[in-house]
Amino acid sequence: MSTHKTLLEIKQVRKSYDEEHLVLKDLSLDVQEGEVLVIIGPSGCGKSTLLRCINGLEAIQAGEILLDGELISQESQKMHLVRQKIGMVFQSYDLFPHMTILDNVILGPIKAQKREKAEVIKEAEAALKRVGLLDKKDAYPRQLSGGQKQRVAIVRSLCMRPQLMLFDEVTAALDPEMVREVLDVMLELAQSGSTMVIVTHEMQFARAVADRIIFMDKGEIVEENQPAEFFTQPTTERAKQFLNMFEFDVKQAEEKLTV
Ligand code: ADP
Ligand code: MG
Repeated sequence: MSTHKTLLEIKQVRKSYDEEHLVLKDLSLDVQEGEVLVIIGPSGCGKSTLLRCINGLEAIQAGEILLDGELISQESQKMHLVRQKIGMVFQSYDLFPHMTILDNVILGPIKAQKREKAEVIKEAEAALKRVGLLDKKDAYPRQLSGGQKQRVAIVRSLCMRPQLMLFDEVTAALDPEMVREVLDVMLELAQSGSTMVIVTHEMQFARAVADRIIFMDKGEIVEENQPAEFFTQPTTERAKQFLNMFEFDVKQAEEKLTV
């Protein structure tokens, strides 16, 4: 991990969907280039909202978000360009069902980024190979398992060459036996120096992949910590309570962790 450059700056961001509830309460957070930040916290605390604000899917009511020093949290004609610099993978992979895996992957770079097709195909095939799916390039999404589709969704996002990748509970909808293959791809990405913000409930994975852990509750950052400390001696009561629900996993992590 390199720490010399701040890639993402979230400054006092306030977000609400209605008059009554503040979903993000003047939240501030920086992400360094090459850093892997894992955000954990109870359901409904605002994790997805935060990611959606970062990549411009949600407007914010106050505060600023900057990517690479450039203000990205205001409505502007440049928004679609900014959005290409931030890749996002969700729980549902929504690949286009009528297009082959390769066509799904190359669509963005060719249509949105106007890159040269032969070069994009080369890059896409190399990326599919990296995740073990080159032999599926001519298949259709319905012919793939959930884990395979999610790996394609990651590849599709990567081929846009984003500066920052956001992952929102990408394994939450997968059968248990497919979780690992997706997490392994993310681990490899992390080790290759990608800047990543990951929301996950996979505690062993969080501990293995994170440079830093953010624990959120009720729209605020409650604790920020190193993974080793966070999972063994969290400093806040709320984080302790939350982790107690995952105690079994964390103990297992000591024994099972192979990365
Ligand atoms: P998390 O991802 O941590 O589970 P979310 O960001 O999805 O939390 O949700 C935070 C809060 O915002 C919740 O109370 C949720 O009901 C509310 N919320 C999320 N999306 C919307 C929306 N599109 N419209 C209204 N309320 C929303
Ligand atoms: Mg969510």
